[in-house]
Amino acid sequence: MRTLALAVTLALGSLAAHAETVYTGDKIDGVPVIRKLDISDLPAGTMQRFMFEGASNGIAQHWYVPVIVAKGAQPGPKLGLQASVHGDELNGTRVIQKVFESIDPKTLKGTVIGAIGANPSGMLANNRNWQLMNDGGDMVDFNRIWPGKEKGNTPEQHAWRLWNQLWGGNVDMFIDMHTQSRGTEYPLFIYADYRNPKIREIAELIPADQIKADPGEKGSVETTFVENKIPAITLEIGKPKLYQPELIERSLTGVRNVMIKNGMVDGRLGKTAQDYKAFVGNDMTSIRAEVGGFSEVLVKVGDMVKKGQKVAVQRNAFGDVIREYTASADGKVLAIGNDPLREARGLLVRILIQNPDPACKLGC
Ligand SMILES: [Zn+2]
Repeated sequence: MRTLALAVTLALGSLAAHAETVYTGDKIDGVPVIRKLDISDLPAGTMQRFMFEGASNGIAQHWYVPVIVAKGAQPGPKLGLQASVHGDELNGTRVIQKVFESIDPKTLKGTVIGAIGANPSGMLANNRNWQLMNDGGDMVDFNRIWPGKEKGNTPEQHAWRLWNQLWGGNVDMFIDMHTQSRGTEYPLFIYADYRNPKIREIAELIPADQIKADPGEKGSVETTFVENKIPAITLEIGKPKLYQPELIERSLTGVRNVMIKNGMVDGRLGKTAQDYKAFVGNDMTSIRAEVGGFSEVLVKVGDMVKKGQKVAVQRNAFGDVIREYTASADGKVLAIGNDPLREARGLLVRILIQNPDPACKLGC
């Protein structure tokens, strides 16, 4: 695993050494199409829009990802923002738009790159997953296959292109924006690898409700960046398939805080995780349906629960209780299933825990 990470780092390094932005010559709705981005050859003090050429699809066209690049008049850190790796997780698209509305490249120090809709296949299908055409259709979780494969299936190629041709060499901090899945909800919540102090700093600059110190998930965007020594977090912004203005504003404040703290823009820090008294946990447990049935969750996101407390019931169609569920640990409710129809293994309640085991200090 470590050898692979090193190989990827070396590959990225060598790309960065002699890369340059590759324009295909096409425009989409007046926006130039690029196959590769190299921010070093963009003019300083400008904000530019691109359509990034992703993998090709079954009708011999490409999937495109809209990208904005604000390159400051002066050098500085390079921040990457990405939304909708899961196609129905949309709050982040508005956060990124608002970040760029707030940036003046003439006074910016460093560069901000935003990819608004990394998984266009899932977005158009109204679905979390990338949609495959082969063999009558299948679906791929686009947040478990990074850094992709040059000669893999379509989503693997798409991830490979984003990783190598868009982000590689161009960013040194990264925020990947998600929400909870359909039928469930989060507050403003962050997965952050607390083994790296810089990642912890980024996480706590965001006025989140809850943070999990977390060792990461293989194949996710966040973990791929972290394994390649680029500090990254997964920012979970509430619920899918919605714009939630309050959470969008707080996420915007968080991104601006990261920019201020890193000297990219002037200004005073807005509210942070500390101001929101964010609950920082190092472990979590998910209570899942054992059978199919109509579920009633008895707690809300953000409630404190005690081990043994009844948190959900499931009924049959006639209203008879068929299962009761209790909290498996003390902690704070991080997520609930808000869709009453739950099949076996469907999430009912997720509890964020402060586990005293020293082995969990920086995340279990
Ligand atoms: Zn997601």
